[in-house]
Parts: sequence; structure tokens; C-alpha cells
Amino acid sequence: MTKITIGIYKSWRNSGKRNHRNKTKKPWCHYFVSDDYTDEFTFGTEWVSKIKAMILKRHVYKVRRSYCFECRLIFTAYIKKESDTPICPNCG
Ligand SMILES: [Zn+2]
Repeated sequence: MTKITIGIYKSWRNSGKRNHRNKTKKPWCHYFVSDDYTDEFTFGTEWVSKIKAMILKRHVYKVRRSYCFECRLIFTAYIKKESDTPICPNCG
């Protein structure tokens, strides 16, 4: 299973709940897509520690729609840098 980080943000764990204390620290929420089980990417979130969040922040991918001239396929690619070339899932 591959988790591709698309975002890491601080958010309230118990949003909507009453009586939350102002002193409560905002935990980090890890937003990712996973290619588990299916060919389709599935979106998921998980709570992570501050340390894990720092590590994940360095590996946030950019979502990019791309077009393959070889097989004429429009696909969604996850790239690390703007300069990266999205790889076609069909041609590799
Ligand atoms: Zn292709």
C-alpha cells in the first residue's frame, strides 16, 4: 500500500463538540491518497504526531493532471516538484 501525501494541516480533532478547551493543542491531520485495493486512488485522512507531520511535510506531492502523447491518456499524476515529469500509468 502506498500513501501519497497531498497535504498536512492542523485541525481540531473534535470539531463541532462543545466544551473544548482553548489550551487543547491542535493536532496534525495527514491528508493522503492511497492506491490500495483498486486502481483508483482513494482519499484518506489520519491523525499524526508533530514529529511525523514534520517528516511528512517534506514529502508532500503535488496533484497534476497530465496527458500522455504515447497512449493519448489523460491521467492524474502525483509529483514532488514542478520540474518533475508526470509518469504515465499506462506506459510507465
Ligand atoms: Zn502513456
